[in-house]
Amino acid sequence: MNQVDYLRISLIDRCNFRCQYCMPEGAELNYILRQQLLTDEELLILIKEVFIPVGFTRFRLTGGEPLLRPSVVELVRAIASLPQTQDLAMTTNGFLLAGMAQDLYNGGLRRINISLDSLNPDTFNQIIGNRSRSRWRQVWEGIQTAHQVGFDPLKLNVVVIPGVNDSEVLDLAALTIDRQWHVRFIEFMPIGNDQLFSDQGWIASAQLRQQISDAFGLRESHVRGNGPADVFQIPGAIGTLGFISQMSECFCDRCNRMRLSADGWLRPCLLNETGQIDLKTSLRAGVEPAQLRKQVGQLLTLKPEINFKQRESGTTSSYTRTMSQIGG
Ligand code: SAM
Ligand code: SF4
Repeated sequence: MNQVDYLRISLIDRCNFRCQYCMPEGAELNYILRQQLLTDEELLILIKEVFIPVGFTRFRLTGGEPLLRPSVVELVRAIASLPQTQDLAMTTNGFLLAGMAQDLYNGGLRRINISLDSLNPDTFNQIIGNRSRSRWRQVWEGIQTAHQVGFDPLKLNVVVIPGVNDSEVLDLAALTIDRQWHVRFIEFMPIGNDQLFSDQGWIASAQLRQQISDAFGLRESHVRGNGPADVFQIPGAIGTLGFISQMSECFCDRCNRMRLSADGWLRPCLLNETGQIDLKTSLRAGVEPAQLRKQVGQLLTLKPEINFKQRESGTTSSYTRTMSQIGG
């Protein structure tokens, strides 16, 4: 059985983008009220007194957009400085990164994933639901700054949507030829925008790999991440290409993670709401960390069964929360 030691922590469910596939314009998003968000203090109690003691040692800060949380640098510093933290990473849209990359690095963050679905400012703006050209430029500057500051590995996440950005797959893959970046193609999932999913469909990783292989050649990389990506390399390239195939391949049996939402729900499976527990309400009701450790420990033992149920039911059921709400 996989050791579950990796926690994805959503710092906030809000975002300064409205990506078509995640938080489409016009969709009703029930944002978490401020007083329902885990406070910094509560989050740190949960990490130190519940998650670390039951075996979590690797953390990823995400959202919504994690850089919108005013205390994000302090939280990075506090989590990175814990002796049990073996790995701390972040997933961000990069819009605020140029001005924050150095502080995040100084705080102890070393690994960062930045979402970049297009190299074309117009397409980018279409995807993120914004008309201003400067947004792409600002994200690109954020990526460059993160690179200069020393983030390593620096990963770029791409969700490929047919008819929207699929014509750019080769250009995005080519970024890895002379940059030590890791471009990761994530299969589009029906979470967040079912309409777009049924209108446009999705592209399987195998098809993208074939397209890239036909253009540049492709070989399996000896570099292995600790996540679900299958890693490849264009021959001679200094960066790598990752493919995350949660739609076309089931990797439930390799799943080593749980997710904590910004309002304190612990969720054992991205695609399944079974078993989730409300840690914030318990904490605020005065439940002792020892009791919470018991509940989380139990959930850890239930996780394989929950994953199995997910595998049996397939991945296209409807979800009550978007990636931005769950903590993607
Ligand atoms: N705002 C940050 C960002 O965009 O990187 C972090 C949160 S976002 C929810 C995390 C990741 O989830 C992003 O890489 C995004 O592309 C991905 N994502 C969101 N909705 C998705 C969907 N329906 N299918 C596949 N990936 C999705
Ligand atoms: Fe925001 Fe990230 Fe969702 Fe885009 S994918 S809307 S940047 S949370």
